[in-house]
Amino acid sequence: MESLGVLLTFPTNSYLEEELSKRCKLFRLWETPPEKRREFLRANAASIRALVGNSGVGADAEMIDALPALEIVASFGVGLDKVDLAKCRKKGIRVTNTPDVLTDDVADLAIGLALATMRRICEADRYVRSGAWKAKGDYKLTSKFSGKTVGIIGLGRIGLAIAERAEAFDCPISYYSRSEKPHTNYKYHSSVVDLAANCHVLIVACALTEETRHIVNREVMDALGPKGVLVNVGRGAHVDEPELVSALLEGRLGGAALDVFEQEPHVPEQLFGLDNVVLVPHAGSGTWETRKAMADLVLGNLEAHATNKPLLTPVV
Ligand code: NAP
Repeated sequence: MESLGVLLTFPTNSYLEEELSKRCKLFRLWETPPEKRREFLRANAASIRALVGNSGVGADAEMIDALPALEIVASFGVGLDKVDLAKCRKKGIRVTNTPDVLTDDVADLAIGLALATMRRICEADRYVRSGAWKAKGDYKLTSKFSGKTVGIIGLGRIGLAIAERAEAFDCPISYYSRSEKPHTNYKYHSSVVDLAANCHVLIVACALTEETRHIVNREVMDALGPKGVLVNVGRGAHVDEPELVSALLEGRLGGAALDVFEQEPHVPEQLFGLDNVVLVPHAGSGTWETRKAMADLVLGNLEAHATNKPLLTPVV
């Protein structure tokens, strides 16, 4: 695929970038300052036939319009909220993502975040490092995770993997999605408020669409309540962030663990001083093993496209 011009929109682990630059003609979007990107795209539009994007910069309508030779969008990630799927369909542009290979990591992190928040692992770590253990004595008591009801928004690949892990902690599982899943014994709620009112830990694992934007709003947070914990490993925009900050500051919500934020990499500074909050910089799939597997899927899809073979993980 040496002749394939590929636009990589984000700086990434060296493996993907090295392989792309070895195998194709690579254009690195992030190296051009934002105010000069239009010019950069105009100058290279004729050569760019593929785009590799992520959860930060994908292929929105403006990007697609700027790239008239675009044939395929190979997303480095599973979420498709940064790709204008309707426009791709209309223009015959193929779209792929990286499902399954990242499921374990994101589900592992979701459980880790629930444990970290309820057992205050990050705060306890700070307690030891600051010398407070020696100075003030034993650490305060925390909340048990095992056996608590876990509510999951979106019982897809990641949601199901979270449920399976939480079951090992003897947690009863309930969930909300657009339809009841007949193949599970988990309790279905047809409203998110209902789900939140009936669980201790609410985990967001659904796709971000217009319908799910701010699916966790003030009403949902109030239903979860002062003993409830919110874990978000979906997308930042699933949660109404200003409402989340208020709920935490006012003690209407027990705690929150967030891997994703509305305006990444900006995180509301009011959260920095709260010990019942755990913050992670969108690292759900961020292990060497998984990022390599994701990169191989992106490369495999581009290779298949360039050689007229069936795509490995087609979306469009
Ligand atoms: P998936 O298998 O496609 O699952 C998506 C789930 O979203 C489905 O269960 C679907 O359920 C649900 N959903 C869609 N629209 C909904 C709606 N209106 N209301 C309620 N539920 C809805 O995808 P996945 O592989 O599990 O990934 C899920 C999401 O996780 C991705 O889209 C991405 O945003 C996020 N993610 C985050 C990270 C990270 O680093 N933190 C990494 C990977 C993925 P129904 O069809 O039954 O409604």
